[in-house]
Amino acid sequence: MQLHCLGTAGYHPNETRHTSCYFLPESGLVLDAGTGMFRLPSLIQTDTIDILLSHAHLDHIVGLTFLLGIVYQRPVERVRVWGEAEKLAAVQNLLVNECIFPAQLPVTWHAIDANQALGEHLSLDIAGARVTWRPQTHPGGSVAYRIDWPSPTPGSASERSLVYATDTTGATDPEILRWMHGADVLLHECNFHDHQRDWAVKTGHSYPERVAEVSRCVQPLRVFLTHISPIDPISLEQPDPRFSVPCEIVDDNQIIEF
Ligand SMILES: [Zn+2]
Ligand SMILES: [Zn+2]
Repeated sequence: MQLHCLGTAGYHPNETRHTSCYFLPESGLVLDAGTGMFRLPSLIQTDTIDILLSHAHLDHIVGLTFLLGIVYQRPVERVRVWGEAEKLAAVQNLLVNECIFPAQLPVTWHAIDANQALGEHLSLDIAGARVTWRPQTHPGGSVAYRIDWPSPTPGSASERSLVYATDTTGATDPEILRWMHGADVLLHECNFHDHQRDWAVKTGHSYPERVAEVSRCVQPLRVFLTHISPIDPISLEQPDPRFSVPCEIVDDNQIIEF
C-alpha cells in the first residue's frame, strides 16, 4: 500500500509544502483537499475517487475547487466527498457559492454521520476499505479517520491499517485511543513546538510531546508527523527520545509504503 503525501503544511502553503492532502492510489482515497490536491491527476489509478474531509477549515477544502481541472486532466467515473453533514453543508453553501467559486463541482456529497444516532459510529465501506471515524477537539470540530483494508482471508485481522488524525489536540478518550490502537501508520498532525503548547491547546492543535503520549497509548508501527507549520516548522532528533516508536516528519511528494 502506498500513501502519497501531496500536501503536508498547516494553515498555508510555503515554498516547499502545500496544505493537507494525502492520496492512496490503489484505493482512490484522498484524505483532505488542501492545496496539495493539484498534484492528484498523474497519480490516479482508479475510475473512482473518494475524498474524506477531516473538517471544513479552508486549508483542508480549498483543493475541492481544483477538481474541475483534475477531472479534465484525468477523467474518472465518479468523485464522492465524505465528511460530517454540517461540514459538507458549509462547503456547499459557502465555498461552492457563485460569489466565491463560479461553477458546481463534479462530485456527490455523502455525510459520514447520516443514519446514525448521536454517539454511534457506524463503519462505512468505501473503495473496498472499512472506514471509521471519531470526533476530535478542534474549533468547529474535526474527525479522525481509521481505514482498515481487509485481509483476503475471511475472518483474519485487517491486512493494512491507517489512522489519520489532523487538526486535533490529540486524543485522550480511552475509547478513541483503543479505536486507534495498533494501526500500521499513525499520520498525526504536529503544528506546534513543545514550548508552544498553550498556543496548540488554544487553536486545537498538537505538539510533539502530546503526539508522543498518543502514540505510546496507540502503539502504531510507525508515526508520521504532518500539518507542519509553514512558518516555524518543528524538528525531531533521530531517533527522538520523546517517541517510543519510529517517528518522522513527512515532506511533500513523499511516498510512505506500508
Ligand atoms: Zn488545518
Ligand atoms: Zn482546522
